[in-house]
Amino acid sequence: MNQLPLPYSEIRRQLNAGEQTCVGLIQNHLAQIDAHNNKLNAFLAVYRDEALARAEVIDQKIAAGQAGSLAGLVVGIKDLLCYESHGSQAGSQILNGFESTFSATAVQRLLDADAIIIGRQNCDEFGMGSTNENSSFGPVLNFANTAHVAGGSSGGSAVAVQAGMCQVSLGTDTGGSIRMPAAFCGVLGLKPTYGRVSRWGLIAYASSFDSIGPMAHHLEDLSLVLACIEGEDGYDSTLTEVPNMAYQPKKRIAYIKEIVEHPSLQSEIRDAFFTQVEAIESTGVEVVSVDFAYLDQMLPTYYVLTTAEASSNLARFDGIKFGHRTENARDLMELYKKTREEAFGEEVKRRIMLGTFVLSADYYDAYYTKAQQVRRLIQERTLAILADVDYIISPTTSSTAYRLGEKTVDPLQMYLGDLFTVQANVTGLPALSIPMGVDSNQLPMGFQVMGRSFDEAGLLNFAKMIQAS
Ligand code: GLN
Repeated sequence: MNQLPLPYSEIRRQLNAGEQTCVGLIQNHLAQIDAHNNKLNAFLAVYRDEALARAEVIDQKIAAGQAGSLAGLVVGIKDLLCYESHGSQAGSQILNGFESTFSATAVQRLLDADAIIIGRQNCDEFGMGSTNENSSFGPVLNFANTAHVAGGSSGGSAVAVQAGMCQVSLGTDTGGSIRMPAAFCGVLGLKPTYGRVSRWGLIAYASSFDSIGPMAHHLEDLSLVLACIEGEDGYDSTLTEVPNMAYQPKKRIAYIKEIVEHPSLQSEIRDAFFTQVEAIESTGVEVVSVDFAYLDQMLPTYYVLTTAEASSNLARFDGIKFGHRTENARDLMELYKKTREEAFGEEVKRRIMLGTFVLSADYYDAYYTKAQQVRRLIQERTLAILADVDYIISPTTSSTAYRLGEKTVDPLQMYLGDLFTVQANVTGLPALSIPMGVDSNQLPMGFQVMGRSFDEAGLLNFAKMIQAS
């Protein structure tokens, strides 16, 4: 697209003034889907008739002055989120045929505000991946260049926004899955503070890391969606009441020396990052470099803990309760084994095995307990930095979007791509990826800002300042 779509506030003004209708909006997005989805593979299901019917109802509500706060906001949802009476498959064959009997809290709150869900978006199986190539429905292609991946795991959600197939997507982020594809596709992606948005109805990957958040072209759209989906719902005991964050900005931010000096960081991204840093400095904000001694421990900590949690969470997919069931089992044990053998993908199996190993009696202390201890150290050091500065900035990813197939042969290479994003999940802090121009191949780059717990408003304001600088 040559031109950014309008922010929701302007769309809403047009809707209220009768210059635009929800039906018209849906038709426009459906036209984009029809033109590009066959190739890009961003949507797994498009709720065409339903979205048009709902749009008509909401048009009437607008005319009657009774419409909700997000009336006519056209949203796509990642295939990890449950939506009542609709399929949810987590990008997996193991949930083949599964329809949810309830909606995720985040989805329900959008519906209650009169948003319109246009479809369900492709993702890496159970959110496990960084390129969307681990989806059992095939990869999502990057709209900037279809020889390249969209990023993952919320690849469909990023590309749907990138290609104008919806106004906003709801993605999920366990180790970077909102921010990384956002960076690869040149859109905004916000991972909220852990405990801000209910995980009820989110198909779990690693429960102490998983977060739901919005992806869009406009910061104000992220704020509106966050305000709608956040807060207590009684179904997620890890939710915290959103505190009042009235603190005095220090006007000082930091980048981590080990990150900007990391050998994996593409020089064009480093240059773009420092150009952005200079622009920020010119607005009177002090930018300092800080040490972070645990960067080498970041990915091992993340992968030990998330695979442990995944091995436990994914035990429920046994062929009995929902989804796929093998047709040729002689007894119960064989039914479990064959069902899981047949329907889980390779990466999911790898992680279940790794997670089972780190939780096994002989290795629990050496791996799982140790990783929990290192998680604490990473948290403490990160919070110590944030006691002295307002935000920690970095490139979102060390490279621009890979070519399709470039990283699939070596899982470790794939995991390395998460190096800059997992810190926010290991610590539970909010983080945002902002587009940072394109490289010499016209592929988008991302600038990441991580803030204090529950300081999303500050984060979004700061991002606005960056965009203006
Ligand atoms: N790429 C990371 C992983 O594979 C992050 C995934 C995510 O955030 N869901 O675990």
